[in-house]
Amino acid sequence: MIPRSFDEIKEALINGDITLPHLVERYLEQIEKNRFLNIYVEVWGEEAISRAHELQNKYDEDKNSVGPLFGMIVSIKDVICYKNHTVTGGSKILSGFKSIYSSTAVIRLLEADAIIIGSTNCDEFAMGSTNETSFYGVVRNAVNPDLVPGGSSGGAAVSVQTNTCLVALGSDTGGSVRQPAAFCGIHGFKPTYGRISRHGLLAYGSSFDQIGILAHNIKDIAVTLSVIAGPDEYDSTALTSVPEDYEDKLLAPKNARIAYFKAALEHPSLDKTVRDRCNTMIENLLAKGYSVEGVDFEYLDFMIPAYYVLTTAEASSNLSRYDGIRFGYRSPNATNLEETYKLSRTEGFGREVKRRILLGTFVLSSGYYDAFYGKAQKARRLIVEKTAEIFKNFDFILMPSAPGPAWPIGESLDDPIAMYLADIFTVHANLTGIPAVSVPVKPTEEGLPLGIQFFADKEKESSLLAFVNTL
Ligand code: GLN
Repeated sequence: MIPRSFDEIKEALINGDITLPHLVERYLEQIEKNRFLNIYVEVWGEEAISRAHELQNKYDEDKNSVGPLFGMIVSIKDVICYKNHTVTGGSKILSGFKSIYSSTAVIRLLEADAIIIGSTNCDEFAMGSTNETSFYGVVRNAVNPDLVPGGSSGGAAVSVQTNTCLVALGSDTGGSVRQPAAFCGIHGFKPTYGRISRHGLLAYGSSFDQIGILAHNIKDIAVTLSVIAGPDEYDSTALTSVPEDYEDKLLAPKNARIAYFKAALEHPSLDKTVRDRCNTMIENLLAKGYSVEGVDFEYLDFMIPAYYVLTTAEASSNLSRYDGIRFGYRSPNATNLEETYKLSRTEGFGREVKRRILLGTFVLSSGYYDAFYGKAQKARRLIVEKTAEIFKNFDFILMPSAPGPAWPIGESLDDPIAMYLADIFTVHANLTGIPAVSVPVKPTEEGLPLGIQFFADKEKESSLLAFVNTL
């Protein structure tokens, strides 16, 4: 068994119970065993082993010379650039494309002596909640291979769930780290917007996108965040405040005040078991001496329309760069420039991505701009203001991660609206830019994983992580 926490792995390496190359080999065996789940787009096994030898030698020569992530094996979602490695956003239009630079997150991981083992499958350009829109096919949930793993970071979640790596980097535009974490029984964390540089993250909705972290426990999230967070001259939206040592700060907070939205726990889409788990969580928090209070929040049903209008608008602009000329796939059927654009995009993008580009172009078009895009911006502003008001009186907000557990593969493809609606509890954190984490709770009677989220005010990730670490 490979240990499921970084502390245990470090201990095994320090005691000499295992060497780093041997550890990598064991992860690679896990990857082989779980091939049928379709977790990875590419596995960089040989490279990982040779890096493990280098790092082990460095450690053997001088134990103090290695970085803080020595011994950590990480997977990266197929939307995160790693120089000279394939990155496709789960799309045919980028098939065969290799990154020409590394994302800031990857550079910082490597500088801290982590090993990157491969790129994980995801919904095409991170658009989806089930990992079914990937050009590489669906990822299967290890709890039951007939079920989706959630999305869009489905491969990332299953990569951790099946112990093929210790920690996964995903991206979260509207819940893509937290919802698959909930569906797979692990922890998923999205920091404050701007906490982790977006340099080298393929853009979906730029004012929403954040790199997030999936792991078995909060401590491993904190260690990873401490390394990859922080200002970056390549991302003007990155926060300029210097991040803290999140691992150091994992001290139980006292007297935290927690709010929940009555409208969320009474929402008709909410599965009874999830409601029960939320109520149990509230009882446990009260028993621990925290104050917990239901608050009114009148904008819950505006979340999904605002999110889907704004993100598709941003996506229609962001994805215009995939023109058949500059990156990846070019249609062999084109005979002139216009056909090159049209056919490359027609053949290169999948159905869901096309639907969103069309929707986004429509809501931005003159004549409809005010009615849709402008209105959604106003709704976003109201949601931001109301949320800030709540944080004047509360430290954290409790929220279900998803209305229910993972559903069967194939079920949502014919009904995209139903799939969009299932994002109701996650998009709030992206509309407002606040940090959020999904923690696993008791599974359903059938054994399906469930999660509950906690939100904190902007830049309050250290108290958020410390708080959920006590649950
Ligand atoms: N399910 C949401 C969507 O499809 C969230 C995706 C994400 O966070 N990347 O847009």
